[in-house]
Amino acid sequence: MNKCVYPGSFDPVTTGHLDIIERTAKLFDDVTVAVLNNYTKSPAFSVAERTAFIKKSVAHLKNVRVGSFDGLLVDYMKQQDAKIIIRGLRALSDFEHEFQLAAMNTKLCSEVETIFMMTNTKYSFLSSSMVREIVQFGGSVEGLVPAPIIDEIRNRLTKQ
Ligand code: ADP
Repeated sequence: MNKCVYPGSFDPVTTGHLDIIERTAKLFDDVTVAVLNNYTKSPAFSVAERTAFIKKSVAHLKNVRVGSFDGLLVDYMKQQDAKIIIRGLRALSDFEHEFQLAAMNTKLCSEVETIFMMTNTKYSFLSSSMVREIVQFGGSVEGLVPAPIIDEIRNRLTKQ
């Protein structure tokens, strides 16, 4: 069985992420979307919220699971018995960071391979931080986050 893990902050998941997940689900038998519990960033949404948003967004994809991890990705990969990491690339600006991450993960575990999916050009401008800003200033995020979670994201970010 070919397995892969798509790790990220997903704070929150966007339609750009979902597009990568849907395309990956056509290429692999088993896809795990893994939410990173990153203590160095201060996320807008908890791991439980981010995980729940992704679960709602991928309910139509039978070979996609959602998990979370902290610590090293390579340790989570071993735990999941997976060797392929999926990452998305939007613009040249993503490249340097992604290149460093991929090189570091291979250094930590030589069996791990990173595969990059190019963004759909429709979503090349889209990021979680942009979604958070638009919502906080009262703009519409229709088409920018998966439809089943739009209301929850709006309510949650405008409530404080
Ligand atoms: P991280 O903090 O790990 O970069 P993100 O949630 O921002 O987490 O992104 C997870 C992965 O998805 C990264 O590889 C990122 O480049 C990719 N990604 C983010 N937004 C898009 C998008 N609009 N199109 C394609 N890939 C994307």
